[in-house]
Amino acid sequence: MAAVTTPAILLRAHPFSESSRVLRFYTRALGLVGVMARGVRRGASRGRGGGGAFSEGTAVLAVRDNRELQTLQEFAPAKSRFGLARDVSRLAGASLAAELVLRHAGQEPHEALYRVLSGGLDRLEDVPGEAVPAELLALGWAIVQILGFGPEIEACVACGQPQEDGAMGWFDLEAGGVRGPCCRMPQGARRVGPVARQQLGRLLAGEAPAGLRGLGAHLSLLDDFTAFHMLGGRRLGSFRFLEPVAAGEPDASAED
Ligand SMILES: [Zn+2]
Repeated sequence: MAAVTTPAILLRAHPFSESSRVLRFYTRALGLVGVMARGVRRGASRGRGGGGAFSEGTAVLAVRDNRELQTLQEFAPAKSRFGLARDVSRLAGASLAAELVLRHAGQEPHEALYRVLSGGLDRLEDVPGEAVPAELLALGWAIVQILGFGPEIEACVACGQPQEDGAMGWFDLEAGGVRGPCCRMPQGARRVGPVARQQLGRLLAGEAPAGLRGLGAHLSLLDDFTAFHMLGGRRLGSFRFLEPVAAGEPDASAED
């Protein structure tokens, strides 16, 4: 058994018994790790750490190969990220990122994924309310891209022909990318104009474009894309909480 000390982000916690929890961390050194944490429920209620969802800090793990759950020796959160609870869309964005990582990240280190997740959670917590939807889209698409599921947006997904900057296109959900005017429009497909294509490119790179247009369409595209290509048709639970945001309604809880 080896003790591993690593930066870690707590993604999810399940109660296991009166005195223990199963925690899922994304770690810099080991990728996705499940741990049994004994005594933390009582400890947390007395304010002695344990950490809440999305908190980040240093974890000390007793690691044994081929074991489903490792043992958590210590987790010292340096960032609590309590600010994510200020409004529903910040929390839904963080949950969406966690769902994707829990479902698809592996048990091996992935520096870029750790960096995108950590930086994205920081921004979701810190940006002004009106910038939150673009930040959560940037975080979601960046994770999709880093995990290797990113859509094809440079060349026509049907025939491979490179697309000009100003070209109108349609999103071919099943093929996983944008079709150009060179090919027939897929039935019921979303139109992807030049601006939308360029904005999608920025989101895939993890950048939140200012003045993002068509927020509802962007959210439903990420929802449909992740359901079809990453989740076997199941939808990410977090999108349910984003319906008011997608409909253009102000986030009521953000006002206090
Ligand atoms: Zn084509």
